[in-house]
Amino acid sequence: MGTESLNSPGYDIPPEMQSQVAITTLDKIYNWSRKNSLWPMMFGLACCAIEMIGTAASRFDFSRFGMEVMRPSPRQADLMIVSGTVTKKMIPQIVRLYNQMPEPRYVIAMGACASGGGPFKEGYTVVAGVDKFIPVDVYIPGCPPTPQALLHGFITLMKKIETQSLRSVPWYQKTPGEPIPIPILGPDLMDPRKFDLIKQVCSQREEQRNTEPEGESTHE
Ligand code: SF4
Repeated sequence: MGTESLNSPGYDIPPEMQSQVAITTLDKIYNWSRKNSLWPMMFGLACCAIEMIGTAASRFDFSRFGMEVMRPSPRQADLMIVSGTVTKKMIPQIVRLYNQMPEPRYVIAMGACASGGGPFKEGYTVVAGVDKFIPVDVYIPGCPPTPQALLHGFITLMKKIETQSLRSVPWYQKTPGEPIPIPILGPDLMDPRKFDLIKQVCSQREEQRNTEPEGESTHE
């Protein structure tokens, strides 16, 4: 990559020095280095993961973007590619992995399943989109998305990183962000963030049952 793309407009660098010298802002160089060294976490959930593996292999080869180091540990990864169907059984593990990733961290929802449930939407075992639990930066449509679509998703994420500023990124704020509560798998999946609402609805129903004349209770 040449230094031209790093240069901030407004600074005149003599033509003979343009390939060696760049005058830029801290934001620009910080974002430039981060976007060109994203390390994805090595995990896959379903058929979309095969396309992700194909994208890593020689024909498409995402190491061209500085991403060849797929990390088996979330503590060394800054990109989570949710590649496949997110089941209710799996989402507690996904949230735990997300919490274990250090900031800055990004999430790509790869394919219809990860983005919104896909062909299994409303299925009793499936979460209708991973964004119900963790924040998603880029959604990639398709069932499955092709490697080209995944590469386009990476480029879209890089463009998003380019727009971030050290002054406003969440990981440099005075109060650090709270980890996301791990969903609880019971008879059904519960999001601990919604406990107050769940309690309220349950007590309303209980009250309703108690005030109904005997024999007229409705089963919900
Ligand atoms: S989006 Fe399609 S290809 Fe991807 S995991 Fe779901 S069913 Fe499989």
